[in-house]
Amino acid sequence: MNMLKKFFCLVFLGFFLICLLQIRTYKPEILKYSDHEEVVSSGKLSPEGKQQAFREKRNVDIVVDPGHGGIDGGTTGGGVQEKRWALRLGHELAKELRARGLDVMMTREEDKALSLDRRCQVANASDAKAFVSIHFNYSHKPSVSGFETYYSWPKSLATMGAIRRSLGVSEGVTFRDQRGELLARKIQKAVVADMKVRDRGARNSQFWVTRNTKAPSVLLECGFLSNQAEREDYENSAYRLRVVTAISNALEAYLEEYKEAELKGIELQ
Ligand SMILES: [Zn+2]
Repeated sequence: MNMLKKFFCLVFLGFFLICLLQIRTYKPEILKYSDHEEVVSSGKLSPEGKQQAFREKRNVDIVVDPGHGGIDGGTTGGGVQEKRWALRLGHELAKELRARGLDVMMTREEDKALSLDRRCQVANASDAKAFVSIHFNYSHKPSVSGFETYYSWPKSLATMGAIRRSLGVSEGVTFRDQRGELLARKIQKAVVADMKVRDRGARNSQFWVTRNTKAPSVLLECGFLSNQAEREDYENSAYRLRVVTAISNALEAYLEEYKEAELKGIELQ
Protein backbone atom coordinates (compact mmCIF):
# COMPACT_ATOMS: atom_id res chain seq x y z
CA MET A 1 0.00 0.00 0.00
CA ASN A 2 1.37 3.39 -0.85
CA MET A 3 1.67 6.22 1.67
CA LEU A 4 -1.41 8.07 0.42
CA LYS A 5 -3.66 5.04 0.88
CA LYS A 6 -2.23 4.47 4.35
CA PHE A 7 -2.92 8.08 5.23
CA PHE A 8 -6.56 7.89 4.12
CA CYS A 9 -7.04 4.59 5.95
CA LEU A 10 -5.80 6.20 9.16
CA VAL A 11 -8.04 9.25 8.70
CA PHE A 12 -11.04 6.99 8.12
CA LEU A 13 -10.23 4.86 11.16
CA GLY A 14 -9.90 7.96 13.34
CA PHE A 15 -13.25 9.29 12.10
CA PHE A 16 -14.90 5.92 12.77
CA LEU A 17 -13.56 5.84 16.35
CA ILE A 18 -14.81 9.39 17.02
CA CYS A 19 -18.28 8.35 15.75
CA LEU A 20 -18.27 5.35 18.07
CA LEU A 21 -17.32 7.53 21.04
CA GLN A 22 -20.12 9.98 20.20
CA ILE A 23 -22.67 7.14 20.20
CA ARG A 24 -21.36 5.84 23.54
CA THR A 25 -21.49 9.20 25.29
CA TYR A 26 -24.81 10.35 23.80
CA LYS A 27 -27.31 11.12 26.55
CA PRO A 28 -30.74 11.05 24.96
CA GLU A 29 -32.53 12.80 27.82
CA ILE A 30 -30.59 16.04 27.45
CA LEU A 31 -32.71 18.04 25.05
CA LYS A 32 -32.51 21.77 24.66
CA TYR A 33 -35.35 23.97 23.49
CA SER A 34 -36.65 22.91 20.11
CA ASP A 35 -39.51 23.91 17.88
CA HIS A 36 -40.88 20.40 17.93
CA GLU A 37 -41.02 19.54 21.57
CA GLU A 38 -44.33 21.27 22.30
CA VAL A 39 -45.93 19.07 19.65
CA VAL A 40 -44.32 15.93 21.03
CA SER A 41 -45.28 16.77 24.60
CA SER A 42 -48.75 18.11 23.90
CA GLY A 43 -50.12 15.78 26.54
CA LYS A 44 -51.98 13.55 24.09
CA LEU A 45 -51.76 10.02 25.39
CA SER A 46 -51.03 7.08 23.18
CA PRO A 47 -53.56 4.20 23.59
CA GLU A 48 -50.95 2.30 25.57
CA GLY A 49 -50.28 5.34 27.78
CA LYS A 50 -54.04 5.80 28.35
CA GLN A 51 -54.39 2.21 29.48
CA GLN A 52 -51.54 2.47 31.94
CA ALA A 53 -52.79 5.85 33.18
CA PHE A 54 -56.25 4.34 33.73
CA ARG A 55 -54.79 1.40 35.63
CA GLU A 56 -52.63 3.74 37.64
CA LYS A 57 -55.34 6.34 38.32
CA ARG A 58 -55.22 6.83 42.06
CA ASN A 59 -53.85 9.31 44.54
CA VAL A 60 -50.23 8.90 43.62
CA ASP A 61 -47.87 10.78 45.87
CA ILE A 62 -44.59 10.18 44.09
CA VAL A 63 -43.58 8.85 40.69
CA VAL A 64 -40.15 7.19 40.76
CA ASP A 65 -38.54 7.05 37.32
CA PRO A 66 -35.47 4.80 37.00
CA GLY A 67 -33.55 6.27 34.05
CA HIS A 68 -32.85 4.41 30.79
CA GLY A 69 -33.67 0.68 30.42
CA GLY A 70 -33.77 -2.01 27.73
CA ILE A 71 -31.60 -1.12 24.73
CA ASP A 72 -30.82 2.25 26.33
CA GLY A 73 -28.18 1.30 28.90
CA GLY A 74 -27.31 4.89 29.83
CA THR A 75 -23.71 5.50 30.74
CA THR A 76 -21.21 2.88 31.89
CA GLY A 77 -18.23 2.84 34.24
CA GLY A 78 -16.21 0.05 35.78
CA GLY A 79 -18.39 -2.52 34.03
CA VAL A 80 -21.58 -1.09 35.57
CA GLN A 81 -24.49 -0.08 33.37
CA GLU A 82 -26.40 2.97 34.56
CA LYS A 83 -29.81 1.47 33.71
CA ARG A 84 -29.26 -1.38 36.19
CA TRP A 85 -28.20 0.76 39.11
CA ALA A 86 -30.95 3.30 38.39
CA LEU A 87 -33.52 0.50 38.51
CA ARG A 88 -32.09 -1.02 41.70
CA LEU A 89 -31.98 2.33 43.51
CA GLY A 90 -35.44 3.19 42.12
CA HIS A 91 -36.88 0.00 43.63
CA GLU A 92 -35.16 0.70 46.93
CA LEU A 93 -36.46 4.28 47.00
CA ALA A 94 -39.99 3.13 46.18
CA LYS A 95 -39.81 0.51 48.94
CA GLU A 96 -38.68 3.07 51.52
CA LEU A 97 -41.36 5.58 50.53
CA ARG A 98 -44.08 2.91 50.60
CA ALA A 99 -42.91 1.86 54.06
CA ARG A 100 -43.65 5.46 55.10
CA GLY A 101 -47.22 5.12 53.85
CA LEU A 102 -46.79 6.99 50.56
CA ASP A 103 -48.38 5.87 47.31
CA VAL A 104 -45.56 5.36 44.84
CA MET A 105 -45.74 4.58 41.14
CA MET A 106 -42.73 3.53 39.12
CA THR A 107 -42.39 4.33 35.42
CA ARG A 108 -40.55 1.04 34.92
CA GLU A 109 -40.12 -1.89 37.28
CA GLU A 110 -37.99 -4.05 35.03
CA ASP A 111 -35.26 -3.76 32.43
CA LYS A 112 -37.34 -2.40 29.58
CA ALA A 113 -36.96 0.51 27.19
CA LEU A 114 -39.30 3.41 27.85
CA SER A 115 -39.42 6.63 25.85
CA LEU A 116 -38.91 9.91 27.69
CA ASP A 117 -42.29 11.12 26.49
CA ARG A 118 -44.02 8.01 27.80
CA ARG A 119 -42.48 8.54 31.26
CA CYS A 120 -43.92 12.07 31.26
CA GLN A 121 -47.35 10.96 29.98
CA VAL A 122 -47.71 8.38 32.71
CA ALA A 123 -46.56 10.82 35.41
CA ASN A 124 -48.89 13.56 34.15
CA ALA A 125 -51.90 11.24 33.93
CA SER A 126 -51.32 10.10 37.51
CA ASP A 127 -51.50 13.64 38.97
CA ALA A 128 -48.56 12.83 41.22
CA LYS A 129 -47.35 15.34 43.78
CA ALA A 130 -43.69 14.84 42.88
CA PHE A 131 -41.62 13.16 40.20
CA VAL A 132 -38.13 11.78 40.86
CA SER A 133 -35.91 10.47 38.07
CA ILE A 134 -32.91 8.36 39.12
CA HIS A 135 -29.64 8.47 37.19
CA PHE A 136 -25.93 7.89 37.60
CA ASN A 137 -23.23 10.11 36.21
CA TYR A 138 -20.03 9.74 34.19
CA SER A 139 -16.92 11.85 33.77
CA HIS A 140 -13.80 11.36 31.68
CA LYS A 141 -11.89 12.32 34.82
CA PRO A 142 -12.04 9.37 37.24
CA SER A 143 -11.50 11.70 40.23
CA VAL A 144 -14.79 13.57 39.69
CA SER A 145 -17.46 12.61 42.21
CA GLY A 146 -20.57 13.89 43.95
CA PHE A 147 -24.33 14.20 43.94
CA GLU A 148 -26.33 16.65 41.83
CA THR A 149 -30.00 17.43 41.42
CA TYR A 150 -31.76 19.02 38.46
CA TYR A 151 -35.09 20.79 38.08
CA SER A 152 -36.55 22.75 35.17
CA TRP A 153 -37.97 26.23 34.96
CA PRO A 154 -39.48 27.26 32.66
CA LYS A 155 -41.06 24.00 31.53
CA SER A 156 -42.45 23.30 28.07
CA LEU A 157 -45.39 25.46 26.96
CA ALA A 158 -47.85 22.55 27.10
CA THR A 159 -46.68 21.69 30.63
CA MET A 160 -46.91 25.32 31.75
CA GLY A 161 -50.48 25.38 30.43
CA ALA A 162 -51.32 22.22 32.40
CA ILE A 163 -49.79 23.68 35.59
CA ARG A 164 -51.68 26.94 35.04
CA ARG A 165 -54.98 25.04 34.73
CA SER A 166 -54.28 22.83 37.75
CA LEU A 167 -53.47 25.88 39.89
CA GLY A 168 -56.37 27.92 38.52
CA VAL A 169 -54.11 30.77 37.42
CA SER A 170 -55.97 32.89 34.85
CA GLU A 171 -54.66 33.40 31.35
CA GLY A 172 -52.68 36.61 31.08
CA VAL A 173 -51.32 36.35 34.63
CA THR A 174 -47.69 35.30 34.56
CA PHE A 175 -46.57 32.96 37.27
CA ARG A 176 -43.48 31.20 38.47
CA ASP A 177 -43.64 27.69 39.89
CA GLN A 178 -40.64 27.19 42.17
CA ARG A 179 -41.78 23.90 43.67
CA GLY A 180 -39.39 21.81 41.55
CA GLU A 181 -36.47 24.00 42.60
CA LEU A 182 -37.47 23.88 46.27
CA LEU A 183 -37.77 20.09 46.14
CA ALA A 184 -34.41 19.82 44.34
CA ARG A 185 -32.70 21.98 46.98
CA LYS A 186 -34.21 19.93 49.80
CA ILE A 187 -33.04 16.61 48.34
CA GLN A 188 -29.60 17.97 47.48
CA LYS A 189 -29.12 19.37 50.99
CA ALA A 190 -30.32 16.19 52.71
CA VAL A 191 -28.12 13.82 50.70
CA VAL A 192 -25.00 15.98 50.96
CA ALA A 193 -25.47 16.46 54.72
CA ASP A 194 -26.12 12.77 55.46
CA MET A 195 -23.68 11.15 53.03
CA LYS A 196 -20.85 13.73 53.18
CA VAL A 197 -20.51 13.51 49.40
CA ARG A 198 -19.32 16.34 47.18
CA ASP A 199 -22.08 18.92 46.71
CA ARG A 200 -22.47 19.49 42.97
CA GLY A 201 -25.56 21.60 43.53
CA ALA A 202 -29.21 21.84 42.59
CA ARG A 203 -29.30 23.15 39.05
CA ASN A 204 -31.82 24.36 36.52
CA SER A 205 -31.56 22.30 33.36
CA GLN A 206 -33.73 21.38 30.42
CA PHE A 207 -33.83 17.62 30.90
CA TRP A 208 -36.83 16.25 29.04
CA VAL A 209 -38.44 14.52 32.02
CA THR A 210 -38.25 17.52 34.35
CA ARG A 211 -39.38 19.91 31.62
CA ASN A 212 -42.42 17.92 30.52
CA THR A 213 -43.91 16.75 33.81
CA LYS A 214 -46.40 19.05 35.50
CA ALA A 215 -45.58 17.75 39.00
CA PRO A 216 -42.64 19.34 40.80
CA SER A 217 -39.92 17.25 39.19
CA VAL A 218 -36.31 16.46 39.91
CA LEU A 219 -33.64 14.40 38.21
CA LEU A 220 -30.99 12.99 40.53
CA GLU A 221 -27.48 12.19 39.36
CA CYS A 222 -26.70 10.00 42.34
CA GLY A 223 -22.98 9.45 41.83
CA PHE A 224 -20.28 8.81 39.24
CA LEU A 225 -19.90 5.36 37.72
CA SER A 226 -16.50 6.58 36.54
CA ASN A 227 -15.36 7.09 40.14
CA GLN A 228 -14.18 3.89 41.78
CA ALA A 229 -14.91 4.98 45.38
CA GLU A 230 -18.50 5.96 44.53
CA ARG A 231 -19.00 2.70 42.65
CA GLU A 232 -17.82 0.79 45.70
CA ASP A 233 -20.12 2.85 47.95
CA TYR A 234 -23.16 2.06 45.83
CA GLU A 235 -22.33 -1.64 45.75
CA ASN A 236 -22.97 -1.62 49.49
CA SER A 237 -26.66 -2.07 50.32
CA ALA A 238 -26.32 -0.27 53.68
CA TYR A 239 -24.90 2.76 51.85
CA ARG A 240 -27.75 2.73 49.34
CA LEU A 241 -30.28 2.55 52.15
CA ARG A 242 -28.76 5.66 53.72
CA VAL A 243 -28.99 7.53 50.42
CA VAL A 244 -32.58 6.38 49.90
CA THR A 245 -33.41 7.40 53.47
CA ALA A 246 -31.98 10.90 52.94
CA ILE A 247 -33.95 11.32 49.68
CA SER A 248 -37.12 10.01 51.36
CA ASN A 249 -36.71 12.36 54.34
CA ALA A 250 -36.50 15.31 51.95
CA LEU A 251 -39.49 14.13 49.91
CA GLU A 252 -41.59 13.56 53.01
CA ALA A 253 -40.67 16.97 54.45
CA TYR A 254 -41.55 18.53 51.10
CA LEU A 255 -44.97 16.83 50.95
CA GLU A 256 -45.71 17.89 54.54
CA GLU A 257 -44.89 21.53 53.76
CA TYR A 258 -47.11 21.50 50.72
CA LYS A 259 -49.99 19.89 52.56
CA GLU A 260 -49.96 22.91 54.85
CA ALA A 261 -49.67 25.54 52.10
CA GLU A 262 -50.87 24.37 48.73
CA LEU A 263 -49.61 27.37 46.80
CA LYS A 264 -46.20 27.51 48.43
CA GLY A 265 -43.57 28.10 45.77
CA ILE A 266 -46.08 29.61 43.34
CA GLU A 267 -45.43 33.26 42.62
CA LEU A 268 -47.90 35.34 40.63
CA GLN A 269 -46.26 38.21 38.77
ZN1 LIG B 1 -28.86 8.85 32.83
